[in-house]
Amino acid sequence: MFSFTDISTYHNQLLQNETNCVSAVTHYISHIRSHSHLNAFVELYEAEALETAARLDEARKNGAPLKKLHGVVIAIKDVICYKDHAVSASSKMLRDFKSLYTATVLQFLLEEDAIIIGNTNCDEFAMGSSNENSFYGKVLNAQDNTRVPGGSSGGSAVAVQAGLCMLSLGSDTGGSVRQPADFCGIIGFKPGYGTFSRYGLIAYASSFDQIGIFGKTVHDIHLLTEIMAKTDVRDSTMHQTPLPAITKKENYSFAYFRQMVEHPALDPEMKIAFENKIEEMIHKGHTVEPVEFDLLEYIVPTYYVLTTAEASSNLSRYDGIRYGHQSAEKAENIFDFYCNNRTEGFGEEVKRRIMLGSFVLSAGFYDAYFNKALQVRRLLVEHANEAFQKYDAILSPTSPSIAFPIGEKIKDPTTMYLADIYTVYANLTGIAGISLPLFSHSSGMPFGLQVMSNNRDELTLLQISQMLTVGI
Ligand code: GLN
Repeated sequence: MFSFTDISTYHNQLLQNETNCVSAVTHYISHIRSHSHLNAFVELYEAEALETAARLDEARKNGAPLKKLHGVVIAIKDVICYKDHAVSASSKMLRDFKSLYTATVLQFLLEEDAIIIGNTNCDEFAMGSSNENSFYGKVLNAQDNTRVPGGSSGGSAVAVQAGLCMLSLGSDTGGSVRQPADFCGIIGFKPGYGTFSRYGLIAYASSFDQIGIFGKTVHDIHLLTEIMAKTDVRDSTMHQTPLPAITKKENYSFAYFRQMVEHPALDPEMKIAFENKIEEMIHKGHTVEPVEFDLLEYIVPTYYVLTTAEASSNLSRYDGIRYGHQSAEKAENIFDFYCNNRTEGFGEEVKRRIMLGSFVLSAGFYDAYFNKALQVRRLLVEHANEAFQKYDAILSPTSPSIAFPIGEKIKDPTTMYLADIYTVYANLTGIAGISLPLFSHSSGMPFGLQVMSNNRDELTLLQISQMLTVGI
């Protein structure tokens, strides 16, 4: 029976001939099949994964050295392009679309001999917090099938949670890696804006989007981060220099935003766990201090104004001519043609956001909404810069509640949006964030601690995360 703990143990087992890549892939394929009710995967790349595994096993037998991700079985969210493989953003709009090229970060993983096992279900165009917005149906939380896994990268989170692969990739525009990691009891890491290339990632809101990583150990995530953070000239918004080295310290200094911890939406039990963690960290010699954050009430509205504006522009390309679903309905003119294609191709939440975005960008409301939101974003960036002059990292809960029951929030978009209160801050400011599965709720569900570092301090953030997760 194959079992996985971390990449370095797996590599040792391979070198000792205790297992091989074909056994690993066979194990995951049968596990994915027996857990098909979770609906985590859109497509399995069974034949090619087995073929790659056999090739790697053969190469090892012939004495070839192991590359960094030799035989590491990885799943990718259905928004990441992989040449000649279907990619649909879990939308009817792109149901039959095949990628014409491979996303840069995925190419980096393939070059290190990773095995891609399949692509995972998500909220349509990565819009959602519960994975209930997918054309392929909802994803179930593996720990409690009556609850959501979080979103929008719910399939990728559940794939790691349920042991259906070793690691997975998601995308995080406002929390879509950290929040499902929090709901599923695993680690979810979003680098700072510009750290990973976005080339080959289907765009939702381009000034927020980043690819992120799900895993069960910080070491594994660290390894993938170093591989994926290589520069790429095809993404002009990314940093063109290598990630700075870790700042190693015995004791770090942390801030937390008082208003975040005192927010009435935060589950009281989660608040206590957070406060106890702070006490424990102070006891161990770290500095942990409260910082005022008067803009808390503005961050969710600011996020939804700016991301819907960007989405309305990004998604205009799906017109049924260049890309996307073409309606069978006969159209009288070009307007009706677009209208039929888009009406049938997009789901309800995506349409809501395109309309919201078009509204905030419209001539009469641009200043009142879009420009105002840009101004708030600027204030948030200044506030974050100030905090990082004094502190190494910022702590917060990842989400105000544990994984909620399926159906609880889906009919009320505002309530769903408000649940993003702790995650959107990192995307608005471009900083990095990670959710660490440190806590357990009385309901038995897991929940996490969010740690955020300045952009470019990702390796230090991972070092801090390693320190905080020792013993879990
Ligand atoms: N829940 C957020 C939203 O619905 C985050 C989505 C994301 O990060 N892709 O926009």
